[in-house]
Amino acid sequence: MNIPYITSLKRVVIIGAGFGGLQIAKRLNRNYFQVVLLDKNNYHTFQPLLYQVATAVLEPDSIAYSIRNIIKYNNNFYFRVAKVYNIDPNQNKIYSNIGNINYDYLIIATGSTTNFFCQKNIESLSLTMKSIQDSLDLRNLIFQNFETAIITNDVNKRKLLMTFVIVGGGATGVELSGSLAEIKNYVLPRDYPDIDVNDMNIYLIQASNKILECMSQKSSEQALKDLKELGVNIWLNSVVTDYDGKIVNIINNNINKQIKSANVIWAAGVKGALIDGLDKLVIEHGRFLVDNYNRIKKYENIFAIGDVAMIKDEKYPKGHPMTVQPAIQQGIRLAKNLNNMIVGKKMKHFHYVNMGYMAIIGRNKAVCDFPLKLRFKGFIAWLIWMFIHLINLYGFRNKIITLINWMLQYYNKSIKLIIRK
Ligand SMILES: Cc1cc2nc3c(=O)[nH]c(=O)nc-3n(C[C@H](O)[C@H](O)[C@H](O)COP(=O)(O)OP(=O)(O)OC[C@H]3O[C@@H](n4cnc5c(N)ncnc54)[C@H](O)[C@@H]3O)c2cc1C
Repeated sequence: MNIPYITSLKRVVIIGAGFGGLQIAKRLNRNYFQVVLLDKNNYHTFQPLLYQVATAVLEPDSIAYSIRNIIKYNNNFYFRVAKVYNIDPNQNKIYSNIGNINYDYLIIATGSTTNFFCQKNIESLSLTMKSIQDSLDLRNLIFQNFETAIITNDVNKRKLLMTFVIVGGGATGVELSGSLAEIKNYVLPRDYPDIDVNDMNIYLIQASNKILECMSQKSSEQALKDLKELGVNIWLNSVVTDYDGKIVNIINNNINKQIKSANVIWAAGVKGALIDGLDKLVIEHGRFLVDNYNRIKKYENIFAIGDVAMIKDEKYPKGHPMTVQPAIQQGIRLAKNLNNMIVGKKMKHFHYVNMGYMAIIGRNKAVCDFPLKLRFKGFIAWLIWMFIHLINLYGFRNKIITLINWMLQYYNKSIKLIIRK
């Protein structure tokens, strides 16, 4: 990896430059630590806006930002594009596609990956939305399907191409189905006047009796109402059991049903993006079990943060939500703890501060739940959602381009390019 070994400094290797990993990399004291940051990409992805890339509202560059731009490069900091495969905890060494490196402290901040719950057909035939590549694939599919639909006289084929089944009624599923409904209501009539808009159908399939499960009952009901008004078909208490590329099998309120669709988007489950090499006993529900200092159980010098880590406490017996805030807060706490530890000061327990949840449903429509039961819906919630997402995007250029694209969306000037097939 071409990184010098300096005996006076402890080497911290961080795997993953996501929301959590970046916080640590920025904050570790480089007078005491040599910081080595590794990521399989040379950019950070702002995942909450992936669905807007998929539905042609934003271009991919506006939600990605060069990692070398984010972190000031000086002595004792090294970034390498590397995909890490394995950890050898006995030799304090990790293995990657660009070579191996020893560490004094290892921090795993690799985020999450899609969980298909062992359903092989669905895994091979459905689409996911975990990366910029996934979102571009989805964008290409949507607009390629419209182009194919417009040239066919076969009504059934056209409907198959234009029916979208989104599995999972969390924020991703809700936001994606709302955005697809906007395409149906605004883009389709303008760009494809010779297609009957009623041939496009959007289904949102949710296993429980509530969408946006992490939000209040009121916000969940509001989102349900807004989505229905936009024309999304919502099936609650429904589980997708199989898919063959054309027919989705669903158990809906204990009754077997089918939907014909060439487009299934799986947003129903996530699990930690684990790295091999550690004892299987430290893995629970696909995440590394860590203590209140984010130290992986059984290992003195290996830590995990964010989606890949699970801190179990009384309030969060199943771990913290797999969202941005726990990752950022754990990253900040762990950096402070390591900076304290190296000078002989005490480390402090991590305490999660829940800053709330929000989801956008469509133009002028969103729901926000904040602490102290502060709730917003409609236009105000939509403005809050936009403001919070804008300030959290990395890069001034990205903020400006995103804002301009959001304004242009009102004129239906979205980026509907089919770049790949
Ligand atoms: C579509 C979508 C929408 C979302 N919407 C929201 C939302 O609205 N609000 C919210 O709070 N959260 C949302 N989330 C969840 C949020 O993005 C995650 O909780 C957050 O990114 C977790 O941060 P992290 O630091 O743990 O991991 P990440 O930010 O995912 O970063 C992990 C990093 O590790 C790298 N990496 C992974 N494996 C390896 C490897 N083997 N070697 C090298 N590098 C590796 C990745 O390239 C990545 O850069 C959404 C997620 C998705 C997918």
